[in-house]
Formats: sequence, structure tokens, C-alpha cells
Amino acid sequence: MTGVIYERVALIGLGLIGSSLAHVIRRERLCDHIAGHAKSAETRKTAKRIGLADEIHESAKAAVKDADLVILCTPLGAYSKLAEEIGPHLKKGATVTDVGSVKGAVARDVGPHLPQGVHFIPGHPVAGTEHSGPESGFAELFTNRWCILTPLPGSDADAVMRLEKFWRACGSNVERMNPDHHDVVLAITSHLPHLIAYNIVATAADIEEVTNSEVIKFSAGGFRDFTRIAASDPTMWRDVFLNNKEAVLETLGRFSEDLSVLQRAIRWGDGDTLFNLFTRARGIRRSIIAAGQETAAPDFGRRPAPKE
Ligand code: NAP
Repeated sequence: MTGVIYERVALIGLGLIGSSLAHVIRRERLCDHIAGHAKSAETRKTAKRIGLADEIHESAKAAVKDADLVILCTPLGAYSKLAEEIGPHLKKGATVTDVGSVKGAVARDVGPHLPQGVHFIPGHPVAGTEHSGPESGFAELFTNRWCILTPLPGSDADAVMRLEKFWRACGSNVERMNPDHHDVVLAITSHLPHLIAYNIVATAADIEEVTNSEVIKFSAGGFRDFTRIAASDPTMWRDVFLNNKEAVLETLGRFSEDLSVLQRAIRWGDGDTLFNLFTRARGIRRSIIAAGQETAAPDFGRRPAPKE
């Protein structure tokens, strides 16, 4: 057990990531006091009922009062207004971070609203599920997953080290990255796969010859895995694409070109091209398993949910 790293932590947003943080902070006793805030009265009520925080506040500015660490855990589109609201109420010397899936836009939206004397260090735990809301979180979400910190030029070295220590205590492996590089890497590893999943599920639903019941009945043939990804929160993913426009469009262009190569190979019966590409792809899957980012368990590594 690491012990207290920040005396008072404020979690703004109490969905999958915010509630998972609350659980792991409690389990590891990483702070003495958790303050929480979420937009709707319903989420705040649930958070109170399940005891996610020591105090649940109706406003973000009340939640951040006296906090040593403030973590924004809302969809990216809410950041700018929230930063404007909390800016004047932050304690001098506090650290403000976030968990958003895009990093370049965070410096743009949050940075200008924060006062001098507050450390702003954007971050992204590369860990998630397709579930959302205050009851979807669990303490093990970050175990052995990467957390990428994207300190800004001039970030205080001690504040960054302290935040790194916090994420390691949550179970993560921590890496530092330039925000733009983060956005390019995540565009291909996370954002494009989600876009493809949303699209393939929408296409299947639109194909009139295949009835919906047949799509569901025969879904084990690969389609099912796309539907799991496509069940992710629409608000969060809308904001990811709006905020990582350049990197996603660039990656999508490359993807479309490669897809045309496959289309051509199928049309002209070019089995070698198909076989070679599929063999390369299988190798990548094996290296992901070797890197400990997935299990080799059959059924696409599906495990029983940690908590239902
Ligand atoms: P979520 O389960 O949908 O929860 C979002 C939370 O933010 C809810 O508590 C929501 O409150 C609150 N919220 C929304 N707008 C707000 C506002 N204006 N003011 C205050 N609270 C507000 O989402 P999540 O999956 O935890 O994602 C949160 C962030 O984590 C996103 O930025 C996302 O990019 C990032 N992330 C997600 C994953 C993933 O797999 N899900 C992985 C890594 C990073 P209400 O319930 O009251 O609406």
C-alpha cells in the first residue's frame, strides 16, 4: 500500500472513469477525502447512495475547493466551461489533470482558464469498457494498463512525479508523451477502431435483405465484437472525434487506401495479397498478447466482467 499522495481529491464527472478512480483511491487509501461532482441530480444521487465520495457537490466549483488534486472525468466537450467555472476556486499549488481520450485539445480548452500557481498536467488512462455511468466503475480498471501523461512545456517536475506516483498506485504503468504524438497514436489504436465499429454496425442495420433478427442470430461471426465496441458512450465518442479531427482524418485516409488494396485483391482473386496481410495482422495480435495488453484466452479474450 502506497499511502496518501494527495490529501484531498476532487473528481469532476462520476462515470466509468471517475467512479473507477473513486474505488481505487479508496482501496489504496491514496487520499484522506474525496469530493465529487456530476452534472445530473440523478448521477449525484446514485453516487451518494453507493458512497463513491465523502462529499457530493451540486457544483464543480464547490467540489474543487481545497482540493490538492482535481481530476476532470467528463466528456471532452464539457472541459472548457468546467475549467472556466473552477479556475477561480482552485487552491494555490493544486494539480489539475484529466482523463480525456484526446490530449492536444485539452491544453487549448483548459489551460487558459487556470490561474498561476496551479499545476496543469493532462493525462489519459488507456483503460476502459463499453459501460458508462456511476455504477460501471471498478477498482481494477487501471491495473496493468497504460496511463499517458502529457506534461506541458514548463510543467513543474515535482508535480509531474507526484501525479505519476498517483497513477502507479492506481495500478497503471505510466508513460510521458507529447500531446500531439499521443493523439496520432490513439487515432489508430483506439479512435479509428471505434469509428469502424460504429460504421459496420450501422451498415449492418441498414442492409435491408438481412433482417435485424438475423444480424443478432448469427452475430457470433465477428460482428459481435464490433457491437461491443459500438455500445460505447455516444457523447464521449462524439467529443473524441470532434477534438482529434486532424489525426483521425489522416489515419482514416491511410485506412481507406489499404482497404482499397484488399478490395482489389478480392476482385482479382489475388490470394497472396490477402494471405500475406492476414499473416502480418495475426503477428500483431500475438505481440499485443506478449506485451501483456491482452490474454490469449479463446473467444477473443473475453473474460467475465469484473463486476456486474
Ligand atoms: P461516462 O461514464 O459517460 O461519465 C461521464 C461523467 O461526466 C458523468 O458522471 C457525467 O454526469 C459527467 N458530466 C458530463 N458532462 C458534465 C458537465 N458538464 N459537468 C459535470 N459533469 C459532467 O464517461 P467515461 O467513460 O467515464 O468518460 C469520461 C472521460 O474519460 C472522457 O473524457 C473519455 O474520453 C475518457 N476516457 C474514457 C474511457 C472509456 O473507455 N470509457 C477510457 C479512457 C478515457 P451525468 O451522469 O450527470 O451526465
